Order: sequence, then C-alpha cells, then structure tokens
Amino acid sequence: MSIPTETNNLIRPKQTRPTRKTTAAPHLRIIPLGGMEEVGRNMAVFEYDKDIVILDMGIQFPEEDMPGIDYIIPSISYLKGKEKNIRAVIFSHGHLDHIGAAPLLLPKLGYPPIVGRDLTIAMIKKRMEDFEKGSAKRLDVIKISSVEDRFNFGKFRVGFFNVEHSIIDAVGVIINTPQGTIIHPGDWTMEKNPINGQPLTYHHLSKLPRPKILMLESLGATNTSPEMVSEKEMHANLERLIAEAKGKVIIGTFASQIKRIGHLLEYAKKIGKKVALDGYSMKMNMEIARELGYVKVGKETIVPVNNINKYPEDKIVIICTGAQGEGNAVLSRIVSDAHKFVKIRKNDTVIFSSSVIPGNERTIQRLKDNLYRKCDNVVHSDIMDVHASGHCNADSIKTIIKQIQPDFFLPVYANHYILKEAAKLAANIGLPEKNIFVLDNGSIIEFHDRAAKVLNKKADTGYVFVDGLGVGDIGEVVLRDRQALSRDGMFVIIAVVDRQLGRVKGSPDIISRGFVYLRESKELLREVRRKVVAIVDKGAGPDGAVNPDYIKEEIRNQIGEFLFVKTERRPMVLPVVIEV
Ligand SMILES: [Zn+2]
Repeated sequence: MSIPTETNNLIRPKQTRPTRKTTAAPHLRIIPLGGMEEVGRNMAVFEYDKDIVILDMGIQFPEEDMPGIDYIIPSISYLKGKEKNIRAVIFSHGHLDHIGAAPLLLPKLGYPPIVGRDLTIAMIKKRMEDFEKGSAKRLDVIKISSVEDRFNFGKFRVGFFNVEHSIIDAVGVIINTPQGTIIHPGDWTMEKNPINGQPLTYHHLSKLPRPKILMLESLGATNTSPEMVSEKEMHANLERLIAEAKGKVIIGTFASQIKRIGHLLEYAKKIGKKVALDGYSMKMNMEIARELGYVKVGKETIVPVNNINKYPEDKIVIICTGAQGEGNAVLSRIVSDAHKFVKIRKNDTVIFSSSVIPGNERTIQRLKDNLYRKCDNVVHSDIMDVHASGHCNADSIKTIIKQIQPDFFLPVYANHYILKEAAKLAANIGLPEKNIFVLDNGSIIEFHDRAAKVLNKKADTGYVFVDGLGVGDIGEVVLRDRQALSRDGMFVIIAVVDRQLGRVKGSPDIISRGFVYLRESKELLREVRRKVVAIVDKGAGPDGAVNPDYIKEEIRNQIGEFLFVKTERRPMVLPVVIEV
C-alpha cells in the first residue's frame, strides 16, 4: 500500500547490523488465539524455547447469526501437550473480554499461576466461584503490587506499566526475552485531563531493550474526532444533572465502571442524596471494590433498592445495569414497568452513561424510544458528554507510537478492518511497512535476530461455543440447524409404515413450528401427505420391504424441495418413519 508519510516526527529505528551468525538460539513466537478478528476473545500466547506465557483469557459475545449461544471462548488446541510449559497467565484488567474465559480455560491447562492486580484477581475469583463453587481456592495467584514488580517466568522477564482504562487496576505488560521486548498496554486510553494526577506518557518505554515489539489495542483507530471526552468534563456533567434533578435520577452504566460509580457515590454523599445500586454484576463488583478499599462510601449513602420509596424522589439516585438494552437487565425492567420498586415518572432524569457496544444499536434505540415516551429528561452521549470511553482514538495511537518508538508494530484487539487502519496510522508516522504486521487469529509470528516472519501454518482458533453448561459441544452443525430453525422454522412428518405391505398406514401426521400456520394451509398439507404416501410406495421393494433410512432421505429431499417451490421457504424437514 502506498501511504503518504508525514515528514516530521519520523520514527527512525537505529540501524543495527544483523548478526550474521546463524545461531541456534530459540525463536520468540507470538500466537494470538483471539482478538484479531473481533472485539473480545482476547488471548495471546508467547513462546520462547520451552517456556510459555499467556496474556488474557477473554470471551466474545455471540454474533446475530449464533442463536442460543451465550458466549465464545478461545480455542486452546495450540497448547495441547504444552501445558507443562505454561509459566504464567497474565491478566491486563478485569473486563470480561479479558478474563471471562478464565474459569473454563485455567482448569483445562492445569491451573498455571495467574498474575494480575487486586481488582482483576478478585474479579477472576468471583467468576470462578460463580462457575464452580470452591474452584477459586485452586488458583495459584501472583499479585502485582506495584508496576515496579518484576517476575521471571522461565526465560521470560515480565514487567509492568501504568495505563488509563475504564476499569480500576488495568495494567500494561512488558515481556522481555533474548529475542525482543514485547510492550502490550492491554486496553488503554489517553486521558488528557485525568481526575487525579498527571496525564500518563509512555516515553520511558522507548528505552526498553530492542527490538521493541508493540502490540497495541487499536479499537479507536477509526475514531478520528480530535477531542475525546475527558473524565473531568463527564463528571461535571453528571454532577450537574444529579444536583438539578427534580425527580429521581436513574443512571445506566457498565457494571465494571467502578471508578465512575465510586465517584457518583462520593458526590451523592456530598449533596445528601441516597444511591441504590441495582443489577447482580454491579452489586457484586461494588462489593469487591469496597472490600479492596477502592470505594469508601458506605451505608449512610447506599440504600437497598426496595427502600427507595422511603425517601423524597429528588433525593434518590439509582445506578443500574442494562444500558445496552439487555432484555432482562434492570433498565429494561424499569422501562417496561416490570421493576418491583422503581416506577418511572415524567420528571425523572434517565442517563445513559455508556457507549453502544457494536451490535446493540437497534436494541438501545428501542429502549430509548420507550424511555422518551415515559420520561421528559433522557440524556445520552448524543446530547451531552455523560460517558468517557476507555479506548483511544486515532490521534492517541499515533502519539503512543511516537513515544514508544517500536521496531515492530502489531495492532491487536479489534476487527480486521480496524487493525488495518491502525497499521496505516503507524505507516503514516514513518514506521517501515515491513515492520508492521496485521495478524489473524492463530497466526504464528516468529522473531529471531531482529527479523520477524509470519509462518505459513496457523494455530487452530475455531469457535468454542458456550451454551448453558455446555462448553464446546455446540459445533458448526448445531449452529447451522439453529440458524435454519430461526429463519424458516421446522416441519415434522410422522409416517407409520406397514412393514408387510410397504405402505403408509392411515394418513401421515404433520407438526410444524415457525413455518406456516397449519390451519390456513390445508391444501399444502394435503399435497404433502399425498407425496409422502407416494414416496413410501415407490420406495418399497417388490416384497413390500422398506429401507427406513432411504425413505427418510427421500422425504427430506422431495418434501423440502416441494415446500420451497410452494412457499420459497426452507424449513428444517424432520421425517420420522415408524415401522409396524
Ligand atoms: Zn477493557
């Protein structure tokens, strides 16, 4: 690709003479198992000699064409047989797209040591316990108590650095090996106006041993708006809305927004309002945050949601989950009058302090429509800055690259097209194109003697679906069936066949769901019955013997075809042949 180059701010990697000797020194391998073709399912494997370190174990939420699937986890086939080499699993932060698969994958890998900051570890433990009681006890935990901590995991030397992200205790990771230093901020944003302290910079990382390999979360690469909402502005807006509200204030946000919720609690306490938290995950997270001392506001301000009616309406703030329009979450229940204690009124203020997760646009639209009918004061990001994103924009991607000056650039943790745009940003500020790699899930990239090479073979990264208690037992076939069922319904034909005569006894039964309304399709059904009788007749041998498998196949094909001709729909045809 030919990309115009900005002449200033060029990054010029020092010319280094490649070592000629063909060393037998091991290669450094990086294998992203997820997070390169989607948002979520983040997991990367780092391999050097006989040592493996893993970063993150996230889940991905299902696409629209995956009916009934709860979520997707990374496939770990690549690690089969190498379990004993895994020295540590590092978790960058506690969002589900980074820790969600831990309860399923850690046991499969023999509980390797896990590394993370307090809140991250606490959230993994909680999720483990939710999944299987007592399982958190089996964890071998190494806590990061400061970003100055250094750990040796086999030949890997691992360090950390501070990052800004929308959850407490997010941390950037430095993985040093004899073949290079990987710098991975996890998820990050560049907060220009943080509430406490100075804005973070990353110049210090430029001094790390070379070659420096920057793996950069690049979700914001297509966000070209120059100014990002700062946390200060957002808090000021939220505070004003809460102070001026004439009725209740209902704030929908992400359950993991502990810092924001903590701030709102402090503010409510200051102005003498009470706060009710609602939503299982939100209450759990706040409990964890209070245990760790991250949130200090207590019972004088936080009231149970069933007590809110004991206070004047203008003294009540409700912070709840469900801003993504999830059907059974709190905000949806409030809006549809299904909440036991919270009834919405015209003079209430409802605030969406959240971003739209891609894929949820229409559900959120519907939720907003319903809210606007019931309430005069609905506030969301299109109207006022009531949410600050945890992700960077295009400008900050360029800034961090200039500050770190990597030798290699690997954009990660977003859809393919976004990673390509991030690659262009890097090329734009002078990074040589040959040193930029947009990988796929399962790509294997090797670093040796300051050169990088993507191997031809890939690691298996097929979908592992989680559905209820089942993990990986839903394959492509089941999913295709569900897609067909959800699209065109099903059509069951039950034929009782007389084994002696090779003929259908009586009239075949027909059951259909989600296809056509049977009572109004009598003629169609009559024809189907006639055809089934004919298929059995034709399929019977001269002595009347029938082959049920053959008959079933014929019914499936011929009736399927017939229904398509008549209706242009393809219901799933399920023939049942009973021999008597
Ligand atoms: Zn995150």
